Amino acid sequence: MKVKVDKKKCIGCGVCADIAEKIFVLKDGISEPVESADLSSPEMLEAAKMAVEVCPVRAISIDK
Ligand code: SF4
Repeated sequence: MKVKVDKKKCIGCGVCADIAEKIFVLKDGISEPVESADLSSPEMLEAAKMAVEVCPVRAISIDK
């Protein structure tokens, strides 16, 4: 599983990187999934799901 960020929607608020710093990093004011982020652990998957929930513009999705 991987996370995706819709760069057209992202407003760079940084919330996803705050709550899941192992999964998201802000680059040039836009969130980007960390390449090596592995969602196979329950903790990481939970953090990714939380980011999906809190993103104010619904820019994050999880790909199965
Ligand atoms: S929470 Fe959403 S809008 Fe904010 S930086 Fe992350 S992807 Fe972008």
